[in-house]
Amino acid sequence: MSQLCYRLILSHMTQSIINNLQLRYHPHSILRQKASPFDEFELAPALYQAMLEIMYRGPGVGLAANQVGLLLRIFVMDCSDDRSTPIFLANPVILEKQGPLHKITEGCLSLPGVYQSVTRPSRILVEYHDELGSLQQKTFEGLESSCVQHEIDHLDGILFPDRVSNISDRNRLWKKYRAPSNWSL
Ligand SMILES: [Zn+2]
Repeated sequence: MSQLCYRLILSHMTQSIINNLQLRYHPHSILRQKASPFDEFELAPALYQAMLEIMYRGPGVGLAANQVGLLLRIFVMDCSDDRSTPIFLANPVILEKQGPLHKITEGCLSLPGVYQSVTRPSRILVEYHDELGSLQQKTFEGLESSCVQHEIDHLDGILFPDRVSNISDRNRLWKKYRAPSNWSL
C-alpha cells in the first residue's frame, strides 16, 4: 500500500472514531472494563484534541478513554484554573506513591451530580507515553496527583465511589446518583 493510501485510510478511520466519541455515564458497562495498552500513536494528536474538547465542555479536569467509549489506556487532564496546561498520558504507570495522604473532593463526568472526598497519596511519580509516543516520567502533586489516580482507576474499571472508604458515605453517594436519561447511548 502506498504511503498516501495508508495516510488517507488512517485519516478516514481517525475521523470516524472521533465522530463517535461521546460521554458514557454510569452504569454503562464500558466504565467497568479494563482498557488495553495504547500503541496507535498516529491517532494520538486527533484523540488528544477531541478528548480535551469533551473534557473542557464537561466541564471536567480529567477524562479517560473509557468515558468516551474507547477501551484504550489513555487520558487527558488539565487541572489549571485557566485551562492552559493540558496533558495527554498513554499507558500510565504509577512508579512511586511518594507523598502523605490527602483528601480532595472528587466528581466525575460519568457520574454527574455526585461529589465526595477521597483519600489518596498527595504526590506520585508516573511513567507514561506522551502524545508523540515518547516515554516520560513526571511527578504530580496535590489536585493533579488525585486526578491522575482517578483517571488511571478509570482505565482499570474503577470509579471514584469505590475509593470512598467510609461505607455510609459511599452508600449515600450511590443512593443520590441518578443516571442521565441518555446514559445507555
Ligand atoms: Zn471520572
